[in-house]
Amino acid sequence: MVLDDLGSSLRGTLDTLQGKSRLSEDDVEAIVKEIQRSLLSADVDVSLVMELSDAIESRALEEEPPGGTTARDHVLKIVYEELVDLVGDSTELPLESQTILLAGLQGSGKTTSAAKMAWWFSKKGLRPAVIQTDTFRPGAYDQAKQMCERAEVEFYGDPDAEDPVQIARDGLEETADADVHIVDTAGRHALEDDLIAEIEAIETAVDPDRSLLVLDAAIGQGAKEQASQFEQSIGIEGVVITKLDGTAKGGGALTAVNETDSSIAFLGTGETVQDIERFEPSGFISRLLG
Ligand code: GDP
Repeated sequence: MVLDDLGSSLRGTLDTLQGKSRLSEDDVEAIVKEIQRSLLSADVDVSLVMELSDAIESRALEEEPPGGTTARDHVLKIVYEELVDLVGDSTELPLESQTILLAGLQGSGKTTSAAKMAWWFSKKGLRPAVIQTDTFRPGAYDQAKQMCERAEVEFYGDPDAEDPVQIARDGLEETADADVHIVDTAGRHALEDDLIAEIEAIETAVDPDRSLLVLDAAIGQGAKEQASQFEQSIGIEGVVITKLDGTAKGGGALTAVNETDSSIAFLGTGETVQDIERFEPSGFISRLLG
């Protein structure tokens, strides 16, 4: 079975198909309705849900189950394939020298994710360094420094400096021996012009190999605007979804992935530096449907 952790109502609907070799239109409609309900309550964008359910519906009605496959398993396979198509594979992250820029609003979990990612790269045998350019949020410097100490990774920041671009430049120079440079940036409470101007200037100075957008799993409708703004200003290669240890399912991040034509890189699953996982489609899909 490709999906082993389905929501109970979807599982119930699928179980009524047990033993059938063909699905009726009513069967398909019932399944599609359950999937729509789960995805909408997981904050997946309405138009994405509609696109997906149309694709599932037409394939389930048109495709013949291969010999030996029950109708139930066949439809489950279609659901899984269509969701994988939407969610995508994890963002490619070669284990080599690179510079990663983190973007996102204040509180999304950038600083925490920077330290977590550095810890993750260090466990892969690379030498990471975190560069903290957030001069906007009081406490950001101390928080990043402490987390990097816990992660046992190199850290650069300057609590007395005011210019984030200069901090980024100095940081890259000071940590030149590191392989992976993770540049944390300041957020704002909302998408303000000065935030966009600042991150564009940092992006130009740092010239990252990839920029990742950090999003709180609880983000709903706001995901679209944020994603398109950051995509326009710096280009987004991947999304980090944080706070997946809470009740939110992270469906809003799919809107961001779709909007930026990117993929998901990491999942944040707690407040400590080890609480990070590389994105993996099937677990995430089970959670969305659960
Ligand atoms: P920033 O403003 O984007 O740098 O956000 P922070 O990294 O400071 O994170 C904001 C808050 O969210 C902090 O209290 C973090 O401890 C918390 N946080 C970040 N990631 C996670 C996560 O994956 N799970 C939980 N439970 N809390 C998180």
